[in-house]
Amino acid sequence: MAARHLIIGGGTAGMNAIRTIREEESERSTITLVSAEKPYSRMVLPYYLDRSIAESHVFTATAKVLADWGVTPHLGKRATALDTTANVCTLDDGATVEYDDCLIATGSSAVRAPVPGADGRGVHSFWTLDQARGVIAQIQPGSHVVMVGAGFIAFTILNSILALGAKLTIVEVAPRILPRMIDDTGAQLVEAWLTKHGVGVRTGAKLTRIDDVKGRLRLKMAAGGDLVADVVIMATGIRTNLDWLKSSGVKVNQGVVVDDHLRSSVPNVYAAGDVAEGPDLLSQANAVHAIEPTAQEHGRVVGANMAGKDVRYRGSLIINIVEVCHLDVASFGAWDDARAETASGVRADRPAYRKLLWKGERLTGAIILGPSSDIWTTNDVGMLKGLVQSGVALGRWKAHLKKNPFDIKPAFIATKTTSMLLPETILGRPSKAPGETPVAV
Ligand SMILES: Cc1cc2nc3c(=O)[nH]c(=O)nc-3n(C[C@H](O)[C@H](O)[C@H](O)COP(=O)(O)OP(=O)(O)OC[C@H]3O[C@@H](n4cnc5c(N)ncnc54)[C@H](O)[C@@H]3O)c2cc1C
Repeated sequence: MAARHLIIGGGTAGMNAIRTIREEESERSTITLVSAEKPYSRMVLPYYLDRSIAESHVFTATAKVLADWGVTPHLGKRATALDTTANVCTLDDGATVEYDDCLIATGSSAVRAPVPGADGRGVHSFWTLDQARGVIAQIQPGSHVVMVGAGFIAFTILNSILALGAKLTIVEVAPRILPRMIDDTGAQLVEAWLTKHGVGVRTGAKLTRIDDVKGRLRLKMAAGGDLVADVVIMATGIRTNLDWLKSSGVKVNQGVVVDDHLRSSVPNVYAAGDVAEGPDLLSQANAVHAIEPTAQEHGRVVGANMAGKDVRYRGSLIINIVEVCHLDVASFGAWDDARAETASGVRADRPAYRKLLWKGERLTGAIILGPSSDIWTTNDVGMLKGLVQSGVALGRWKAHLKKNPFDIKPAFIATKTTSMLLPETILGRPSKAPGETPVAV
């Protein structure tokens, strides 16, 4: 009998797994997809928000693509339980799906600050397509938008809110913006840049409640200085979608704990993407990375393993790259490792900043920011990522970089980092063109 694969979750990880199963299998299997939403990419939602792309461009696989792939879809259905002894998944309409192996790729959900009024009218999350539709319907030119939370996701939609002609204020409880992406020096430069571009920034600011006052929203702040907004967006974090696995016997921690083949504690159950707690490239310790590249790579590796290959995952690199008001801001790897050897440089006038972190001869983390119009900013983002990802021994170039943290290129070229990275593949073979399938998966 043909192998029966069950994919739970139709986001980046799930769709990459499906595509890879079809690419790698030697005998045609059956694939069932259960997904609470139609397959789409969350990462492109900022471009939908500012109307750079139409809603139809958000989707990663249409009904026709799924049919061409020979996938049996259960869309708009939620998995509610997994019986890993009987190999049966139960859906929210009572239906059941039997499987030989299954992939948990249920991602994460937005979490709101636990304050009175957080679920009221005019208060939004921005994580799903439905939530994006809600925000789009509310923002008008001249609206005052208050974004609660100054993390990476908030920053991915910042440009779009400004492009809609709205006035924006960001409120962050931590003492600095982007607290999990860059350090104090970087955060100060980005905050000054945003202020210069008309964005209000309040750090160390604790929101205590939101009241609807005659159609507008009053945000009460612990230290006073209340704000009045037309739209509030809560970008206050995400939580892995694990609740439905409670009685499954699958081991969970912050996410579903997986091994170096992305198998969970139950051998025929895999996990991938935001919901998985998998190996980190640098430390090899398990972590939830909750970023798009990890979801893609996980999906590819699981797909190959489900198709009968034996693919070990090397681990994922933490990568955060965002551009705000034409300022590129990025960090890689262990950028906040207090025990690492470091070197940094600031050019406050541009502004530009580099911070490099080492263990021995190897670059293990980096922070970089600078104007997008400076050609070396974009180039350095790519080269620093390459140096951290490759783990190349820098030799005498370490001393050069310590002295000249803005002069990345000679070290990158001299250490032949490109030729180290070029042969690297996730599946041990070159990628195949996606053919008729959308490039986004
Ligand atoms: C606005 C925005 C911008 C972003 N920008 C970036 C970026 O620039 N760079 C970056 O690296 N990352 C970015 N991300 C994060 C990135 O989108 C996620 O890391 C990625 O989507 C994770 O993929 P996934 O497949 O693990 O989960 P998801 O894409 O979240 O997919 C999970 C799927 O599972 C379904 N599901 C959930 N529960 C169930 C259930 N019980 N039963 C059935 N189905 C279920 C969901 O409906 C969904 O279809 C962004 C996210 C957002 C929201």
